[in-house]
Amino acid sequence: MSADIIDGKAFAAKLRERVGAVAADFQTAAGRKAGLAVVLVGDDPASQVYVRSKGKATLAANMDSFEHRLPDDTSQAALVALVEKLNADEAVDGILVQLPLPGHIDAQAVIAAIDPDKDVDGFHVINAGRLATGSTGFVPCTPLGCMMLLTDRLGDLSGLEAVVIGRSNIVGKPMAQLLLDANATVTIAHSRTKDLPAVVRRADIVVAAVGRAEMVRDDWLKDGATVIDVGINRLAPAAGEEKGRLVGDVDFAGASARAGAITPVPGGVGPMTIAVLLRNTLVAAHAHAGLDAPTDL
Ligand code: NAP
Repeated sequence: MSADIIDGKAFAAKLRERVGAVAADFQTAAGRKAGLAVVLVGDDPASQVYVRSKGKATLAANMDSFEHRLPDDTSQAALVALVEKLNADEAVDGILVQLPLPGHIDAQAVIAAIDPDKDVDGFHVINAGRLATGSTGFVPCTPLGCMMLLTDRLGDLSGLEAVVIGRSNIVGKPMAQLLLDANATVTIAHSRTKDLPAVVRRADIVVAAVGRAEMVRDDWLKDGATVIDVGINRLAPAAGEEKGRLVGDVDFAGASARAGAITPVPGGVGPMTIAVLLRNTLVAAHAHAGLDAPTDL
């Protein structure tokens, strides 16, 4: 058997296109563009790349992008003051503070300062609480993107066994909540889980969000399982390679022979994250302007 490839890149491109069209309608209805503010502290090279691509994607989707780049030695008080200014800015619908922050800043305190209705990353405790209690709020972009891929592939998830490997606040926990909301039977596995292969073997749906290259092996999978690989890991360069290959948390070649469907790395979950960020920003913009967002966004 050879698994179907879940093409996150194509799905994300379609979502971005839809967001762009709805953003144009929003501009007509609201008399202004939807706006996303992204705050970057310091000069971490990976964060700079993320912020640049978020800015480009925001502009391409007919929305305003406001970038705030602050030096590495910015105080927590100055950062919170900027967040409060953005909370009050009528042109800003969504605020994203790029993580990780420098060590002298308490990321939780900064996230807590974001207006929950502009928290398009869904990291504020109010939004985590809304998700946990089944009320409407912003859901972190990566797990929401995984959920879109899963429902597109499987339709109704009722009664399916889902195993989420990883329990971080940004991926594992919200992923499990979303699956539970969709009536799957959910197990959350982590570094203390006993006999992880046996736990994973029960799953119709496996979501791997660990950060360990190719940890999930083919013989951990039930035949026909749907596998969502969130991990992004760079291998050491092989002979003749300048940079090592990017791989997920799942042994893709092995798993492809057993799974029913699987996301590749790269080109699976990764592209969904920015597309969902744009979608969340547009939803925030509609609420901010007192308009109804289309229900299929
Ligand atoms: P994280 O905060 O480091 O969490 C990793 C989780 O994996 C923890 O809950 C940890 O368990 C668990 N874990 C570690 N070793 C394990 C093992 N041997 N067996 C079972 N569980 C184990 O990471 P994260 O932020 O959730 O990210 C996970 C991965 O997704 C990373 O590769 C990251 O780069 C990637 N990611 C991708 C995107 C995207 O856009 N595609 C977005 C976010 C993250 P404990 O809690 O017990 O320590």
